Amino acid sequence: MAGGSVGELGEFGLIDEIIRDLPMTRGVVLGAGDDCAVFSAEGNVAVSTDTMVADRHWKDTWSSPRDVGRKAVAAAVADLEAVGARPIGLVISLAVPTTLAADWVRDFAAGVRQECERAGAGLLGGDTTAAPTAVVTVTVFGDLQGRDPVTRAGARPGDVVALKGRLGWAEAGRAVLNRGFRSPAAVVNAHRVPEPPYGAGAAAARAGASAMIDVSDGLLADLGHVARASGVTIQLQTSHFDIAEPQRAVAGAIGRRDPLGFILTGGDDHALTATFAAGGVPDGWRVIGHVEAGEPIVLVDGAVWEGPQGWDHFSGGRG
Ligand SMILES: [Mg+2]
Repeated sequence: MAGGSVGELGEFGLIDEIIRDLPMTRGVVLGAGDDCAVFSAEGNVAVSTDTMVADRHWKDTWSSPRDVGRKAVAAAVADLEAVGARPIGLVISLAVPTTLAADWVRDFAAGVRQECERAGAGLLGGDTTAAPTAVVTVTVFGDLQGRDPVTRAGARPGDVVALKGRLGWAEAGRAVLNRGFRSPAAVVNAHRVPEPPYGAGAAAARAGASAMIDVSDGLLADLGHVARASGVTIQLQTSHFDIAEPQRAVAGAIGRRDPLGFILTGGDDHALTATFAAGGVPDGWRVIGHVEAGEPIVLVDGAVWEGPQGWDHFSGGRG
């Protein structure tokens, strides 16, 4: 049945739309459609959950339902990458208004399936309910493949800080969308759907990463968590950053003095940043700084960054 509202589709119809055509993934013993899903695991399992709320984490005027589904999966899986795990599968809780078009849910589900395939994650099941506003919660389970988790607490003086993935693209996209523009497409698309470097977290763990985090709230904010958990000073060198042409264009167009702000404080790209013993950085990672003994702060070219800090989910805006 095409068209109609979520209320007309009903809860069971809604679930059928989401779980149909699901591929079975390795390790999944019992998939969606029963009271529980079951997967088999050897050793430690990593778990993380991530919630997105309509009009707070996405706007329907900026993002398609497919984008929302893809982003919800990508953001959750990025947290698994950050400890060096590979996804086994995920469960989704979806609360939506009964008046919402059923096609929204169909497109959302298509996005979820698409990103699950990219990430190598199975969709194990979920729950739906009616609510005044749309809320999506994704809970992911990951396989540490016999390794210890890479935490935020392992950075040591003498380590280098390295980056895998993009920084500040989603934030540049948000900045132009916020002003009513739709281009450059590259940054607008980055805001709509992040591209976490799937598999890079496990590769970093195999290479001996001492600490790792995914950049969801901004590089300074997230490396701040590493500095505090590890009890070290992190020094970033801006000459090591790659500022892309669309970011320069956006900074110029919106009258921002320095596109570096996107790189240092922009969230939502879900790049990975990790610390490694010098000489132990895996291929494809960019060295952006180093770790020193000292108070637990992040310095930019030797000084405290004076611009705006990263996103704080409870402050209601940029700090
Ligand atoms: Mg995270």
